[in-house]
Amino acid sequence: MAQKNQVFDNVLDLVGNTPLIKLNTITAPFKGEFYAKVEAFNPGHSSKDRVALYIIEQAEKKGILKPGDTIIETTSGNTGFSIAMVSIIKGYDCILAVSSKSSPDKIDMLKTMGAKVYVCPAHVSADDPRSYYEVAKRLHEETKGSVYINQYFNQLNIDAHYNSTGPEIWEQTEGEITHLVACSGTGGTISGTAKYLKEQNPNVKVIGVDAFGSVIKKYHETREFDEKEIYPYRIEGLGKNLIPTATDFDVIDSFVKVTDEESAHTAREIAKTEGLFVGYTSGAAMQAVKQLEEAGEFDKNSKVVILFPDHGSRYMSKIYSDKWMTDQGFFDSQNKVAAESIQYIK
Ligand code: PMP
Repeated sequence: MAQKNQVFDNVLDLVGNTPLIKLNTITAPFKGEFYAKVEAFNPGHSSKDRVALYIIEQAEKKGILKPGDTIIETTSGNTGFSIAMVSIIKGYDCILAVSSKSSPDKIDMLKTMGAKVYVCPAHVSADDPRSYYEVAKRLHEETKGSVYINQYFNQLNIDAHYNSTGPEIWEQTEGEITHLVACSGTGGTISGTAKYLKEQNPNVKVIGVDAFGSVIKKYHETREFDEKEIYPYRIEGLGKNLIPTATDFDVIDSFVKVTDEESAHTAREIAKTEGLFVGYTSGAAMQAVKQLEEAGEFDKNSKVVILFPDHGSRYMSKIYSDKWMTDQGFFDSQNKVAAESIQYIK
């Protein structure tokens, strides 16, 4: 943990050891105590810093990566930013294959962090040679001395959290945690953290958060991949249209599904009640906690840790834009409140 007046060798020394912050207002009517593991305190502002640093350092240990080599991944999101940041400090080239659906802001951000970005057409199938999966695979095959992070299908994604997020939460709660609530995208965060916590105390209950439109919850319950579950949704980083091997379904007790609309409003509520400016999936995780409370999941002895994966600044043109919220039809009755909170002096 950072000490007072400590000076760091470089930004990577700040990865991990994020704070656990008690929620005092938004959960006040609920039974039990609620704490947020706020991953925005990582230097790249998300939990993906842990994964990027861990996977790259494992490759170095195995002698796969040497200075000047190349790291490749398919993402425009948090993982891309984290890999670019680690690559700068460690002297690697970073190639990111992203979908043409990615916002220009995100592409500019990755470019600023030194990544070489390939923008691939969004509306082609995954096995089309132009898809971002295929482009990344091809670049990996063609580039000598390259590592493909492949976060959805990489066991090291789970190990990164088993070795850091899990032990941190166990120590921060002095072993008193009763519930972990975390979103599942690749599944690395929830699986690695849950595995560690359940090894310490098998009674810790682990609840995953999934999106409507994703196959993950149904797969957990039936072990059936049901294509009929799939439809478009707006939350990024949560749920999936495939089954990632970076999810260990056996260490997760149950899943809760949340809507785009309620998650967006709950993210805004976290900012207003707790002063924590966090991302869309943090709203989703908190929304799941509200639903669990209503369903009677907690009692006065519950000590619940909710994982908040990233920072709100990445969502300025989405959930924190009144226009975007209005365009999605998310305001309706609340539109008036949003408009009144800004006063224009003429
Ligand atoms: N929230 C956000 C914003 C993310 O980018 C991700 C990663 N896809 C997650 C949650 C889920 O984390 P994980 O991939 O470890 O399941």
